[in-house]
Amino acid sequence: MDDDFDCASLSDAQLIASLKACVEDERRQTVKILKRLNEVERRDLFSKKRYSSMFAFCIGELGYSEGAAARRIHAARAAKNFPLIYRRLSGGSISLTAVSLLAPHLDDENHRGLLDRCAGKSSREIDRILSEFSPRPAPRDSIRHLGTAPSPSEIPGDDASGALPFSGVSDSALTEPQPMSSGGEAGQKDDASSAPPGDPGPKEGERVSVTFSADQRFVDRLERARQLLRHKYPAARFEQVLADALEALLDRVDPFRREARRASKSRLASEQSSDGSQNPARAGVVSGESSGRTIPARLRDAVWIRDEGCCAYIDDEGRRCESRDFLEIDHVVPHALGGSSDDAGNLRLLCRAHNRREAARIFGEEFMRAASDRAARNRISG
Ligand SMILES: [Zn+2]
Repeated sequence: MDDDFDCASLSDAQLIASLKACVEDERRQTVKILKRLNEVERRDLFSKKRYSSMFAFCIGELGYSEGAAARRIHAARAAKNFPLIYRRLSGGSISLTAVSLLAPHLDDENHRGLLDRCAGKSSREIDRILSEFSPRPAPRDSIRHLGTAPSPSEIPGDDASGALPFSGVSDSALTEPQPMSSGGEAGQKDDASSAPPGDPGPKEGERVSVTFSADQRFVDRLERARQLLRHKYPAARFEQVLADALEALLDRVDPFRREARRASKSRLASEQSSDGSQNPARAGVVSGESSGRTIPARLRDAVWIRDEGCCAYIDDEGRRCESRDFLEIDHVVPHALGGSSDDAGNLRLLCRAHNRREAARIFGEEFMRAASDRAARNRISG
């Protein structure tokens, strides 16, 4: 409704009073939204739709930004455990952002005191209060677009001859200072920390800043890899070392690459065969007989490739889930009910949420509720 005319006709005092009434209404609506989000999660409705998480649901179905979705999910889960939060939000003594910052730190003993202390405080003040009793959280894993900045090798003074000081916090002059963690999303964890769905990724020539925290063992292995790669990359920048490491990893775990390798081996074998020099051991690599519920490696990879490395769940509106995380191979007819493990037609890729949903459909609602409760407990304790 366009109420511009109404606003313009109000006196100053009426305008302020009307605005305050709207804000109070907004707070009540926020509480209603949090309660409904909790119920949607309890009923697992996001996975009935095409979404693999509440986070994806809030963005795709409700149109929230990533930050807005994360704040509401964290606040809703916290308020479910500590209903006092609903009253404080409704009364305006604490904001949604504040609750999402506090959420990971609240427990039965401290929640009332912390909510009292943080009443009316800014995000930065709340950050300071939280740092008193818990170590500063490690930075979230993140990928930030930098535009078409030059790569470190193009920056004067960072040429290949100069060994990089490893004790520094970054591997190049490109790394920018971290934004204040009081931006309202510091409490993000689990699903909210992944790259935004639908992010097109960097364009050709564009640089990104990748931030994550690691333990000493990771640092030791990174340093060891840098030492071993000095001949290949004298500067041994993190990007070069990790790019090589990722190539080696993907060669091992990526079904598409494994299948390409098998195809090339198979071609080689058939060429040798036509020469009359086939190696029987090599030919055996490409065959795989199923035994029981074990899915032959080659069939497993074929299912990955057919389903394009994406969850194959289609909701009742005909929309396919877009999740590429936590994918598992699912038996359409379960092995326990006589379903085949060596027929691609009985196999498909499903994300964890939809795998669980299918299991619940087949094995019963009780199973689904128990699994959902378990998952919620893990999220809270995790
Ligand atoms: Zn899915």
